[in-house]
Amino acid sequence: MKTIHDSSLDEWFLTGTPLSQAAHQQAINTAQQTIETHFSTANKPFSGIQAEELSNLLEDDVICPEEGVPLATTLHEVGQKVLRHSVAVHHPACAAHLHCPPLIPALAGEMMVSATNQSMDSWDQSPSATLLEERMVQWLCKTFGFSHQADGVFTSGGTQSNFMGLLLARDHYAWTRFGWNIQKRGLPPEAREMRILCSEAAHFTVKQSAALLGLGEEAVVTIKTDEDHRMNLEDFNQKLSHLYGEGLHPFVIAATAGTTDFGSIDPLPELASRAHALGLWLHVDAAYGGALMLSNTYKKQLQGIEAAHSITVDFHKLFYQPISCGAFLVNDQNHFNRIKQNADYLNSTEDEALGIPNLVGKSIQTTRRFDALKLYISLRSLGRARFADMIEKTIEIATKTAQLISKDPVLQAINPTPSLNTVVFRYLPNSQHSELSDSQWHDQINHDIRHTLLASGDVVLANTKVKGRVCLKLTLLNPRTTMKDIEFILERIKETGKQRELPRGEWGQHASNISATSNHAKLL
Ligand SMILES: *Cc1c(COP(=O)(O)O)cnc(C)c1O
Repeated sequence: MKTIHDSSLDEWFLTGTPLSQAAHQQAINTAQQTIETHFSTANKPFSGIQAEELSNLLEDDVICPEEGVPLATTLHEVGQKVLRHSVAVHHPACAAHLHCPPLIPALAGEMMVSATNQSMDSWDQSPSATLLEERMVQWLCKTFGFSHQADGVFTSGGTQSNFMGLLLARDHYAWTRFGWNIQKRGLPPEAREMRILCSEAAHFTVKQSAALLGLGEEAVVTIKTDEDHRMNLEDFNQKLSHLYGEGLHPFVIAATAGTTDFGSIDPLPELASRAHALGLWLHVDAAYGGALMLSNTYKKQLQGIEAAHSITVDFHKLFYQPISCGAFLVNDQNHFNRIKQNADYLNSTEDEALGIPNLVGKSIQTTRRFDALKLYISLRSLGRARFADMIEKTIEIATKTAQLISKDPVLQAINPTPSLNTVVFRYLPNSQHSELSDSQWHDQINHDIRHTLLASGDVVLANTKVKGRVCLKLTLLNPRTTMKDIEFILERIKETGKQRELPRGEWGQHASNISATSNHAKLL
């Protein structure tokens, strides 16, 4: 029997007809040209536009007109208004966060992911995608030193992966310790006594997860860090014995392999042996540092991670993937049973008895993107050695940057020997403020430097606080960054700091001139 398609919508949906494919090609070409125009004109990491002006600009266009506007017009407008005022993640002076330039192979992968639109929840929506994701997960488990019992799932990123780690740890403890099934019965009476241990440098999503898991932020016990921002084992031992002394229930250690500000790696082997001796779950948040597994030089820093119960790893950071792409791994596939649901329409028990793989049971998402594909294409086309080179290069640049900062009399390095590729430092003003204390004045200047540079569009860098004091932070994860770029960035920071030190009236004038006087072309 021949089926008759309605071809009147072929210009809007990608199908096998020539009309549809021509429309697709034209749309993709226009989008590609718009993107390339943006990249070739963005000679600064940001246009510097203020929120109010940008908001007015965007309000000009009706979101859902009665009759549509030609696609080319819409794409062109988006180029003019949206892309133009995006941050240019490929630019070496875009160095604030763990926000990477995406690899070209991954961009090609994204097109395939979107065009085929497989959904990872059930086999009948993603047959080859299901199997390829499973293969990727097996590869990851092996890379992190897990056994054949291990399993995992792709996630939207570290936030979701950390949440899943603490969720499984909570449910595992309640079952093994109290014989209480949280999935069925909700929180056990002892829930108020359950405690999560992490360092004070752990990611904020540990606290966020504790809140979402019904344990409350106060269930998180933060352990002091040493001078290298790693979890201090003495304080860990003390806090833990205190918790046991109080009759409380510590159940998970949330260690970090690559803290967001300092890239510091908690002492994993020591934490693993404590976790195993005491029956605690060890979750390792390697969202940032997990990529070190690709480097023969640096992977030993993650030693001990193979003894974790669960691992968070992000690919939209040091694996250079377009957002979003992450994974959550567990050392035993049975742990996923604690969150599993069977929906008759999706993954019926009858189908599962036949061995049909439906990944929905391992995820807290239902409809889910095939993000594993872009990572697969990237790893396969670049190869491990090139990935390792890129990562190692960024660590080298960060180390040299910290050395430059240490030698500079107006800058102070907070981490003179970076463990990964972040550099935290302060601008040291030469002057005093008539109304502020010295520390307030230093904080104010370091805060203003970042905002002034963002408004000039010249440098996108971050602020963070160390021991309550405002600092500047560069996250140097772009492997294309050179020391010339670094010199430019530090020069702009010092210039901006110096101008900020001028008396009030003069400062205002200089601030508005900063953008005009700086030499953006230097960076290109
Ligand atoms: C980025 C990061 C997270 C959060 O991950 P998202 O992918 O942004 O959700 C968690 N932990 C660490 C250490 C991170 O660097």
